[in-house]
Amino acid sequence: MIYEAKVNDLASEFGVHRNTIRNWINSGVLPAQEGPGRRYLIQYEDYKRLCDKYGREPRISPDPGAAGEIAQPVNENVPKAVRLESKKNPFYSAPNLADICLTCGSCAGACPISGVDDLDPRKIIRMAFFGMEEELIESDWPWKCTMCGKCEVVCPMNVEIVQLIRRIRGQRDRDKVPVAIQKGVITCLEKGNNLGIPKDDFLALIKELGQELAEDCCPGFATPIDVRGARLLVTVNSKQPFAEPESLTWWWKIFYAAGESWTISSEYWEGVNWALHSGDYSAMRTIVKRIIDNIERLNCKALLLPECGHAYYATRYALERWFPESLQQFKIYTVFDLLLEYVNQRRITLDPSKNTKLVTFHDSCNYGRKSLKTFGHGYFDEARTLTRACCPSYVDLVPDREENYCCGAGGGAWASPFGAERVFHGRMKARQISTSGAKVVVTACQNCRDQLQVSLKREFNLNVDVCFLWELVAKSLVMPKRIVGEVQHG
Ligand code: SF4
Ligand code: SF4
Repeated sequence: MIYEAKVNDLASEFGVHRNTIRNWINSGVLPAQEGPGRRYLIQYEDYKRLCDKYGREPRISPDPGAAGEIAQPVNENVPKAVRLESKKNPFYSAPNLADICLTCGSCAGACPISGVDDLDPRKIIRMAFFGMEEELIESDWPWKCTMCGKCEVVCPMNVEIVQLIRRIRGQRDRDKVPVAIQKGVITCLEKGNNLGIPKDDFLALIKELGQELAEDCCPGFATPIDVRGARLLVTVNSKQPFAEPESLTWWWKIFYAAGESWTISSEYWEGVNWALHSGDYSAMRTIVKRIIDNIERLNCKALLLPECGHAYYATRYALERWFPESLQQFKIYTVFDLLLEYVNQRRITLDPSKNTKLVTFHDSCNYGRKSLKTFGHGYFDEARTLTRACCPSYVDLVPDREENYCCGAGGGAWASPFGAERVFHGRMKARQISTSGAKVVVTACQNCRDQLQVSLKREFNLNVDVCFLWELVAKSLVMPKRIVGEVQHG
């Protein structure tokens, strides 16, 4: 026997809000199938179970005449609505998902790679809605999407498209995840960093870099490793010691000038967390937990993840989701927070006369619109304040801030096999830069820097220099005159 009722009828029957009824249905608490006339079809046993739970007399009975009303007869000629299988569909169960999509297509209009291989975020939403999990998991669309979130900005219904993409990625067999991404995650789990750099090699390298910095411009400097009680724990991107070790010293120079008390851990020093890209929440949690352990072991008060936007986003996300108590124990800085703190507290002095070219800032998706949406704050103004403090001649890209275009390499795309799609996505960014007339592009993300510097400049013939925000700050520093005994390392 089937009980047929509208959401409003059920809400009034059980004395709850209609959204509660929808939640019950979506979560499987009340198994129901969509029927004609916006009614839900509920098996009598399920309806009775709910009535028992809430101490209510059922309005219908399998024994006609025994109690109350008889269920509405179901018209078998009316085509049945698609069964959502909410309990079985791993994508549909998320809040704010496909059940409220209007199919307006705004997301597709905003997505820079919509149309590539028929990719279209609206289609992805509809497929999730129709329970086409297998097709989505097998599809390469979620891996060609950079999870930039531009589609979400324009969605009038706040559908969480990026979250859905990550869920789909997370459902794929791990041996079918793009090799470089999965290898990075596994290597990080097994060896402590994405590239598997041995501990002795890493320590020897950063010590030597510290000696060179001391000889160059920071007398008395020595790389602080495992300094207990240092205020700030600083993570490292394995790409830096592997490919461009001197880039580490830009931050070190700033710390030296600011008189910062900081340290690097000799173990699990990687801040990059590619599990965010592969949708592997378990690995993501493990990698972040190691950072927390380092902070506790070294008794630090704050954390800086200087690598890139996704390292900050993944770590902050994991802290808020799995380790919220940690956020009471230490502060997590973005590169913007810390640099602005130094400037505002006059711990560093910048000389803008060193930079005369026209400069622009590229907002990374993770520090910008995704942080705004997830954590309530996007780092837009801070980035411009710092860039302008170094470069008086400044121009914004159009559009920028929350509406900014992704560089094309987000979501692990830099390491994925879909190079042509990555470059195609980046055409929007290249056009923005070219139109702005800027001669220098500043960014706060390693991923964005690599895509701009290595790929887009060449592919789109861009005549610009690309640099990190902290590189710009380090090169604009007025270095204090310190003597050896004054240097504060930890
Ligand atoms: S913009 Fe939002 S509501 Fe419109 S089709 Fe895309 S997901 Fe659906
Ligand atoms: S997140 Fe970015 S790439 Fe992915 S569907 Fe949305 S706009 Fe397109």
